[in-house]
Amino acid sequence: EQTGRTEMYVKAHFNYDPKKDSVIPCRDAGLAFKDGDILKVVNMEDSKWWQAAKVDGSGKTGIIPSLTLEEKRQAFVKPDLDHTQKSYLCGIVTKKKKKMLYQAKQNSEFDKYELAIYEEVTKLPPFHRKTLVLIGAQGVGRRTLKQFLLKAEPHRFGSVIPHTCRVKRLNEIDGNQYHFMDKELMEEEIQGNKFLEWGAYEGNYYGTKFESITNVTKQNKMCILDINPAALKGIKSGEFLPFIVFIAAPPVQIMRNMHEFARQRGKTNKIKTEEDFQKTLAESARIEKTYKAYFDCIIVNDNMDETYRKLRAEIDKLNADNQWVPVSWVY
Ligand code: 5GP
Repeated sequence: EQTGRTEMYVKAHFNYDPKKDSVIPCRDAGLAFKDGDILKVVNMEDSKWWQAAKVDGSGKTGIIPSLTLEEKRQAFVKPDLDHTQKSYLCGIVTKKKKKMLYQAKQNSEFDKYELAIYEEVTKLPPFHRKTLVLIGAQGVGRRTLKQFLLKAEPHRFGSVIPHTCRVKRLNEIDGNQYHFMDKELMEEEIQGNKFLEWGAYEGNYYGTKFESITNVTKQNKMCILDINPAALKGIKSGEFLPFIVFIAAPPVQIMRNMHEFARQRGKTNKIKTEEDFQKTLAESARIEKTYKAYFDCIIVNDNMDETYRKLRAEIDKLNADNQWVPVSWVY
């Protein structure tokens, strides 16, 4: 198209049912869709109603709310942040919430609303994603999955070593678990956006540098990151070409069985209470609700080996299937 794009593909990030829409001029003319569906927008001349078609082969067409209309409607739905999220936002960390330090403070929770309506996408032939981002609640098994992948194919997968400014302990080797660096320099680099994510723990900073990721991808390895979801915005770009997988928590009963199984095989000696499992489940639900627009796929981890197989299959599929990606990765 020489004269500019006359059509556009979008990924919808909300469910739409014209039958329940009280403002649509004609309900029968509406096109129903679900969160995650890809739509071809063929006419955007009207400020309120666009004409669109499904790309799922069904041939269905109809009108859908325009971005402006839907933005106005969703603006009335205020984000319902609970207490924990509020303290996240302000960066307040109480002792009890130590575990939550694994976060990117520079990205506010509000960033997610950027993707809340339509995301412009384009279809690409199979290509290699540079990073594999595993998102999920603490204790849901992301670290284990990462270790499985690294061990199975060390030439294909890599991972990053975080930086910290805390004092090196006697038995520690620089570049093993951490790269150690000067506090002032680390502060400066955090300010200068050199870190994808960072957190403070007992007065010291910890974080992952963008440069560390590039060092892995330069070796043509897929860099596996098990980061906090708040860092998603920083990684979802054409530079890092991420494949973002959400590892969801299974029901408590299954989590309990999996943990018991791991304990019996000596894989962990942690004691977990009913409350721990409930917490993991609640955190998982919160992350999913807040960040689902970012996810390329969701796997419920109800069996570690099975989840690993599914994850491998999803990664392999990238080399075989066409992929819908944000237009910003291409243009
Ligand atoms: P330690 O000093 O005992 O090795 O680690 C203390 C804490 O630092 C960990 O429990 C973890 O919460 C945090 N931490 C370690 N690495 C990182 C990282 O890369 N990013 C962030 N945000 N926190 C980290």
